[in-house]
Amino acid sequence: MSKFSRRNFLSSTAATIPLGLGVSSIPHQLSAAYVTGQADILVTGKILTMDSYLPVVQAMAIKDDRILAIGDLEEVLPFAGASTERIDARGHVVTPGFIDAHSHPLFAEEAIGVNVNLPTIDEVKKALAWKASQTPPGHWVRGVMYDDTKFSDERPLNLNDIDQVVKDHPVYVAHRGGHTGVVNSKALEIASITMETPDPIGGKFYRENGEFTGKVAEHAVDVFFKVGTWPIMDRSVRQEAARISSQNMAAAGLTSTTDASGNRNDLLAYQDARRNDELYFRVAFMPSGGSQVYRGLKEAGIGSGYGDDMIRIGAVKFSADGSASERTMSMSTSYQGKPDDFGILTMTQDEIYSAVDDAVAHDFRVGIHANGDVAINMVLNAYEKVLKDYKGINPRHRIEHCSLVNEELLGRIKAAGVIPTPFYTYAYYHGNKWVDYGYEKMQSMFAHRSFLDAGIPVAPASDFTPGPFEPMMAIQSMVTRKDVRGRVWGPDQRISVSEAMRICTMHGAYASFEENSKGSLVAGKLADFVILEKDPHEVNPDEIIDINILRTVLGGRTTFEA
Ligand SMILES: [Zn+2]
Repeated sequence: MSKFSRRNFLSSTAATIPLGLGVSSIPHQLSAAYVTGQADILVTGKILTMDSYLPVVQAMAIKDDRILAIGDLEEVLPFAGASTERIDARGHVVTPGFIDAHSHPLFAEEAIGVNVNLPTIDEVKKALAWKASQTPPGHWVRGVMYDDTKFSDERPLNLNDIDQVVKDHPVYVAHRGGHTGVVNSKALEIASITMETPDPIGGKFYRENGEFTGKVAEHAVDVFFKVGTWPIMDRSVRQEAARISSQNMAAAGLTSTTDASGNRNDLLAYQDARRNDELYFRVAFMPSGGSQVYRGLKEAGIGSGYGDDMIRIGAVKFSADGSASERTMSMSTSYQGKPDDFGILTMTQDEIYSAVDDAVAHDFRVGIHANGDVAINMVLNAYEKVLKDYKGINPRHRIEHCSLVNEELLGRIKAAGVIPTPFYTYAYYHGNKWVDYGYEKMQSMFAHRSFLDAGIPVAPASDFTPGPFEPMMAIQSMVTRKDVRGRVWGPDQRISVSEAMRICTMHGAYASFEENSKGSLVAGKLADFVILEKDPHEVNPDEIIDINILRTVLGGRTTFEA
């Protein structure tokens, strides 16, 4: 605790809130407008503010959507009155709401499919049978969020499993990674796929002992979407998808996210949900570089930063190489045991130059997907070029994922003020995939330690749906670097619990230029906070993931309560 007055009251002007990352808050002036005002909510308990001036306090008063006062109990108590709602979090811990700087909330498609991210195949069968009972005969039944490697059965879902429970509907169970699925016999039948059907170029119908397993991959998926009757994804269904996704994220303690590649329909979905009071997170919307909405925004003269506290236009999104988890990212050294495999580039250097030049000319920040060191180098070339003659404050261009780095790249990222968004749950969740990179490379991947040591404000990023978004899993993953089976991937990149929590809060706010309004609990900032059952600093690091979220509050409004 500071020996100065341990209180912190709402400032009358935002200008007194210090700019920049890592700058501690200064004590704010008492606002005349609020001196006589009564708090709507009084929160008491151990409050971790993420503000270095007052890191731990006892009470917080909230008025409308903002923090009115925060400090010791006796200092904040006078702001409470008869009508003030009391939230007693004693015995638990209060933190700023968590922020995810890169996800795809609408990829989950839970508004049209049933979530089969379940621990056993039996439970998946039950879920699919239920969905079929709700679906007109003959129409497609869709399972979503499937993960083949996570069942306690220790085998993937197959065609026979689905046939046992759904015979009259075609079924497509979509993998959360987005590149494969599992179908039933009815699906093969209506798509006219028989054992005589060859695999399409760039795709595969998996077969074993003269029979289909049900697994289909890449271009073999396409044929199913051209036959039968699929659920209609209209505007109201998309709005429902935004509601479900934001509600799920709120339940995990998230108050802000970033849609890291959106189109016009996605932007409409968020706005529709918000209009209906059903948007449970703040969203930075990154239009996809090839999208109609990006062209439209440029034409309208709307660039990054436009919007308000709930929905704001973020950086434009491009993609320069393959994927980390699917082992196609573009690297200067080959994959383990595959001397000729260096991954895939999806943009040329010239394409990157012109995309960046055009975006900056239209007042857009840029976020380019670049996993491997080769792709990261190319993206940095373009950022360095465009920043050379740039006037004004650093636009904080981003490198999405920025998975594999080295000392040279770290120095250039720091010098250019670029924000990397490495996967924060991958060490824990995707362990099986890291074998293909090997021990040495994993010491330089998802390099949270290296970024922090270089003074780079590394952002929190799930890449949901491929990656889980749960902040408690993220903190454990960054702290332990252990996967589900206890194997450690890249021990040099381990960081402390405090550092991980700071990434998931303040660094998330910084990544969207919103560090003055959120990311820490300071008077005047948005009242976005979470009540955790336990303090992550005080549990076994391997059990952080088990900490329950008791309540999530977004701008003074409870969006989740256990
Ligand atoms: Zn992504």
